[in-house]
Formats: sequence, C-alpha cells, structure tokens
Amino acid sequence: MKIKRKTLFWKLYPSFLIISFISLLTIVMIALWSFKTFYYQERADDLAIRAKILTPQFSRLIQAANYQEIQKKAQLLGDNTSTRITVALPSGMVVADNRKNPATMDNHNNRPEIIQAKRHGKGLSIRYGHTLKTDSMYFAMPIMKQNKVIGILRTSTPLDTLQNALLVIYYQVSSGFIILTIITAFASWWMSKSLVRPLEIIKVQAQQLAKGDFSSRVQLHSNDSLESEQLGQAFNEIAIQLNQRIEIILNQRNEQEAVFSSMVEGVIAVDSNKKVLRMNQSAYNILKISQQDVEGVNLKSIVQDEELHDLILYALQQDIPIGQEVTLDGDIAQVLLAQSAPLVDIHKKKCGTLVVFNDITKLKAFELQRKEFVANVSHELRTPLTAIQGLSETLIEFPSLPQEKKANFIEVIHTHSIRLESIIENLLTLSKIEKEVEVDDIDFANESITLSLSNAIFLCQNKALKRNINIVLNNTKDITFKHNASLIEQAIVNLLNNAIKYSNGNSEINITVSKQSHNIKIDVEDQGSGIPKEHLSRLFERFYRVDKARSRALGGTGLGLSIVKHIALAHKGTVSVKSEINKGSIFTLILPLDK
Ligand code: ADP
Repeated sequence: MKIKRKTLFWKLYPSFLIISFISLLTIVMIALWSFKTFYYQERADDLAIRAKILTPQFSRLIQAANYQEIQKKAQLLGDNTSTRITVALPSGMVVADNRKNPATMDNHNNRPEIIQAKRHGKGLSIRYGHTLKTDSMYFAMPIMKQNKVIGILRTSTPLDTLQNALLVIYYQVSSGFIILTIITAFASWWMSKSLVRPLEIIKVQAQQLAKGDFSSRVQLHSNDSLESEQLGQAFNEIAIQLNQRIEIILNQRNEQEAVFSSMVEGVIAVDSNKKVLRMNQSAYNILKISQQDVEGVNLKSIVQDEELHDLILYALQQDIPIGQEVTLDGDIAQVLLAQSAPLVDIHKKKCGTLVVFNDITKLKAFELQRKEFVANVSHELRTPLTAIQGLSETLIEFPSLPQEKKANFIEVIHTHSIRLESIIENLLTLSKIEKEVEVDDIDFANESITLSLSNAIFLCQNKALKRNINIVLNNTKDITFKHNASLIEQAIVNLLNNAIKYSNGNSEINITVSKQSHNIKIDVEDQGSGIPKEHLSRLFERFYRVDKARSRALGGTGLGLSIVKHIALAHKGTVSVKSEINKGSIFTLILPLDK
C-alpha cells in the first residue's frame, strides 16, 4: 500500500500549532492556578488573623462558662467583621455561632478544620457548608489556658464572591487564550508558509529541470532566509552547469551525428544479442533498405545477405578488428570491404561490434578494367612485334632470299611498324587527355565549331574520295563556344575515319551541327555496315572491336572511339551511338556551351 506523504507545510503547520497551543494552555493553567492559590491564601491568612485577634476575648468567657455572653460577642464581632464566628468546646459542642442557633447545631468534632486544630494548633478546610448552603473556607484554632485546650474558635467565610471573582478572571483569561490561539494559528500558518515557500520555488524549478528546461532560474523573495537564498543560488549554479554540459554534449552528439550520417562508408552497430543498435544513411543505401527505425531490430531481418550477416556474427565473437571482402548478390553484384571493431561499454566490457563497409564495386571493376587493359595492350603490341621480329630474323638468317620475297617481307615489317606506331600514338593520346583532365590542364577557347569541323573534314577528305564517299557538313549557323579545337578536331577525325572505314564506297557521310538550349550537338552519320545492338554498350571501351580481324585489316587500333569518349568527357559532354545493321550508324557528340 502506498503511503500518502504529507507536504512539508502540513508537517510544519500542525506541529507549530500544537506546540503553540500546548504552551499557551500551560501558561494559562499556571496563571489561573496561581490566581486561585493567591486569593485562597489571602482569605486563609485573613481568617487566621481574625481568629488570632478574637481568641483572647473568648478565652476569658469560656473560663467563666458564660455561654450567653460568648454568643452575644460572637454575634457582635462576627457581624461587624462580616465573618462567621463559631465557638465550640473541646467536646465538639458548639456554644456560639453568629449565623445559626448553636442549640440546633450538631457536634463539630468531626469537622476537618477542628480535628487539625486540635492536632496541629490550627486547621484549614474548604468545603460545602450546610449552614450557609455554599462553599466556605473554615479556619480553626484552639483557645488555650495554661497549655490546655479549653475551646475551639472557628472563623469562616463563604467563598461564593471569591469564586465569582475568579470566574470573571477565568472568563477573561480564556477569552485572551482563544484570541491568542487564533493569532498563533495565523502566525504558525505564515511561518510555515514562509519556510516552505523557497523550497516550493526550488521544487518547481527542479521539476522544470527534470523536464529538460534549463533556462528558468530560482528567484527568491528578499525576505527569505539566507539559507534559502544560498540554496537557490546553488540550485541556479547547478542549472547553469547542467545547461552548459548538456549543450556541450548536444554539440558533440550533433557533430558525431553529422559525421556519422555524412560518411560515405556504411556503418552498422550490433549489440551482443544480435540486435541492431544504429545504422547510418550510407548503410541503408548500400544495403538497399528503405529508411526505418532499426534500433532493437534483429540483425537477420535487416541484413538479409547471408555472407554479410555471417561476417557480422563472426565479428561479434572476435575481440580484435577483422576485415574481409563480401560480395552481395543482386541484379548487379556489389563488392563490399567490411571492417569490424569490437564495441565496448564504459566498463570496457565488450557489448557488440561496429562494422564499417565500403562499396568497392567500382574499384573492383576499375581494377579489372586495368588488368584487361594491360593484357590488351600487351596482346596488341605483341602481334606486330612478333611479326616484325620473325620477318627481320628470317631476313638476317637467309640473306640469299629472292629480292621479291625480301621486298615483300620489308613491306610487311613496315606495315606492322606503322601499326605499332598508331597503337602507341593512340595510347599516348589517351593518357595525355586523361592526365590533362586530371590536372585540369586543357585549354578551352571561344572558337568556331565550323572551323574545327572543316579542318577534320579536310584531313579525311583524301581517304573519303578514294572510296568515293562524300562528306557533307550541315551547319546552317556558325556556333562559337568554348572548346579545345584540336581535341574536337581529333574526335571528329576519329569518327570520320571510322565512318569511312566501315562504309561501303559510293556513299555519304553527314555531319550535322545543331544548337540545343545548353549544348551543342554534333551528329556524324554514315551509311555503312552498322553495328549489332549487343556491342553498342561496350563500343567506347579501350581495344573493344566488333570484328577484330576486320578492324586490324583496316588499320584500326580499337582505341579511336575510346579517345572520342575521353575528349567528350574532357568537355563535360557525352558521346552516344545509334546504329542499324546494313543501314548505318549515327555517332552523337553533345558538348555543353558553358564550361
Ligand atoms: P577501330 O580502330 O577498331 O576502328 P574504334 O574504337 O574506332 O576502333 O572502334 C571500335 C569498333 O567499333 C570498331 O572496331 C568497329 O567494329 C566499330 N565501329 C566504330 N565506328 C563504326 C562505324 N561507323 N560503323 C560500324 N562500326 C563501327
């Protein structure tokens, strides 16, 4: 059962109230008791004095046994002093009384004041008096004659007037007590409130703090206590410190978050229970997962690729970083380089693993391309070299060969050396363009495209004429734009050379220039053999040829289109091809007007 706790106010206020009430009550009781004691003592002393004064007057009359005179004297003295005077003999018989006929009065030996007087020389009692029918105070003392008790003198007075006077005092003191109690109740309420108020303010502040609001501060009243003020200041200091620390933490977290989400590498953190802790945007992209809340989700449902999943599980069991290549199956296989590091908590205890993976698919493809390129270059160079070497060795070994044969061999050697030169020249051109693009060292100048095209046509004109091919330039309006004229000239020469090479004679090659909103478009269209569809996507790769033998026979190196592609890229443009078998091909260069 939950105990309902009292607020500090309801603990302090009743305590103050009870303490004040008990204190007041005690003071009032002591005061009333003192009043009563004081007045009663006064009366008792008064009765004693009167008795002492009167005793000698009665002593003589008792000795003379003049009871009538005693009665008269008692009557006279009693009435004069407003005191009841009773005289009794040692036997208890009353011989005089100024309030009642002594003959009708019973024996008084049993009255407490008379018993005390006989025993101790004086006696006092306060009791109800049947004669006066009211509470009375009685004082008795013996009347002595030569150390012998010859009678008892009793003085008494009714207490009703005294009691009435005391009642008035009681009433006034009680009224005062009630008024004081009410004032004390208010004072206690005010005191409790003023003690609790600073704490209340600090409590509200603490609650604000708990809710994450660090901006508000404790503001106490000027009349609050020093301790409260110091507590408030300390609290404000805590809030400021907390605010600063949380700001630092938030800034650090934001920085880390920014680094984490902008990382090109995919990052996935997994706890020891194989549940995902976090993942960054790149991880979503690489793993092709739609953005979702992955925290606490089972690793298996996030990473579906078995190889990567198993690698993460393996990494979870290791205490040292591991690295491995993983191939993700899919429409296009993805190669990842995954590297793991154990995650440790603040107690340096292993609590999971962090796996960082790079998509190295392009790198791998590039490496493959490079290997293929090296293999292709070696192969392409070896063929003419072997021919040159073989033929020249034959010429050296057999100097007596017929002149005709020798001339034939020398011509073949010459052809291959030209081929070698073309390959090397093309390779050098390619690497030069690549290098210039890399270091941004290509000169672009505002020049007429017509000029570059006319120069290219001029360079190919002879070859075209030999095969009865007509090159037509369709350029209604000259366009001037920033480009590298010699590179564009070379690209067009390569395209024209191909168009001439792979066309049957007696045809036409059309070069059409058109201006688009931001680009310039150059189409080189031939009426040649066309290219099968399956080759189109790879046509611009180095050494790629549709028909190797035909290309070689025609003096091709397989690098012409690759050079065109690189020239287009150097101008931030593109090159593409459309082709139809036996109808011809159109190679299109698109170059942006602004660089
Ligand atoms: P090559 O030196 O062999 O001509 P290219 O890179 O210039 O090398 O061309 C690659 C291949 O593309 C050629 O071998 C050829 O098969 C094909 N090709 C290029 N241009 C044409 C064209 N206009 N018509 C038909 N096929 C072409």
